[in-house]
Amino acid sequence: MFFIGIFGIQNKTEPIASEAAVICPVCERYGRYEILKSYYYFHIFFIPVWRWNKRYYIQTHCCSRICELDQETGSKIEAGQSVFVEKEHIRCMDRTAAPLCHSCSAQLDPSFTYCPYCGSQLNR
Ligand SMILES: [Zn+2]
Ligand SMILES: [Zn+2]
Repeated sequence: MFFIGIFGIQNKTEPIASEAAVICPVCERYGRYEILKSYYYFHIFFIPVWRWNKRYYIQTHCCSRICELDQETGSKIEAGQSVFVEKEHIRCMDRTAAPLCHSCSAQLDPSFTYCPYCGSQLNR
């Protein structure tokens, strides 16, 4: 994030849906997951002016993974459709390549600036 006077660019990650009692597409166990939306926005006086680089993620609670969800599936879920997330809709990073939260050790996407599990700010 950088900040110049009253203008700035920020990255925001917010949950758009959560599913309980579903088969996790990552570990294939009965679990729980949330769908997150991440985007960058340009703001003036804290008012978002435009957004870009929208990406969707699935955050699982059973196996503590965050995987990227494809745009099509993500936008359907955001529109309120009930979509069953399958393995082919997600792209998981290698566990060793992904950064870990320094405070709760959850696996994170490199683009995140805050840990969605515990809310702590990530050092970069
Ligand atoms: Zn799982
Ligand atoms: Zn954390």
